[in-house]
Amino acid sequence: MTNTNTPGHLWLDELSTTEAAKAAIEGKVVIFPVGSVEEHGEHLPLCTDSIQPEYIALEVARKTGCLVAPPFRYGIINAGRNFPGSLTIQFSTLFSVAKDILSELSRNGFNRIIILSGHAGSSHMVALRLAAQEVVYQNGEQNGKQRTRIMVLSDYDFADELTAELADPKDGHAGTIETARVMAIRPDLIKSKGIPSTYDMPRFEVVLHPEQYFPSGVHGDPTAATTEKGQKINAHIIAQVIKLVEELES
Ligand SMILES: [Zn+2]
Repeated sequence: MTNTNTPGHLWLDELSTTEAAKAAIEGKVVIFPVGSVEEHGEHLPLCTDSIQPEYIALEVARKTGCLVAPPFRYGIINAGRNFPGSLTIQFSTLFSVAKDILSELSRNGFNRIIILSGHAGSSHMVALRLAAQEVVYQNGEQNGKQRTRIMVLSDYDFADELTAELADPKDGHAGTIETARVMAIRPDLIKSKGIPSTYDMPRFEVVLHPEQYFPSGVHGDPTAATTEKGQKINAHIIAQVIKLVEELES
């Protein structure tokens, strides 16, 4: 579909109340970006997981005419929580915030929603998914159809599809892929080349100081990152999220 948004009006909260009512009636899809404040080695900023989904969401909105809800830039940090600058929130907090935002979007008539999270920790994703589930269940059916449709994903669900081609198979947190993506999005926030390293967490034990298993805060090789790789990964994610928007519009 073609973009009918007023130029510059990609953010939901840049609309007026009248425009918001119209957008809801038109059945616009809304992307809700969720990030985190989390250590990403010495070479990437704490907002790494926030700027990635926000960039993807805005590019998708530019191309499809969907809207981007104001982002929520906090998440549940486990492995990296003791590094300076990491700010974690509780599971119940993330669940409540996500549920409130989804319920409010729905109450305003926006019933096609994508939660796009830049942080992909397992408990973080479960909190978002449970919030979406509760809103979908509560809203039930309308005219024999599910009233509210919500997709919950991390942009790393799609970035990982290019790992085999562009990075080491074990590439992870603040590694090649993530560093390359930030180089392509906000080169001014790259602090250094980064230090290649890996971590080896205990498989089952809950530990007080998980950072001792990865003192650099990096899992992968940031020095193998390039802007070109980042552009390629971001373009792939944008194309995949556009397909999701079209699926929700159909
Ligand atoms: Zn990250």
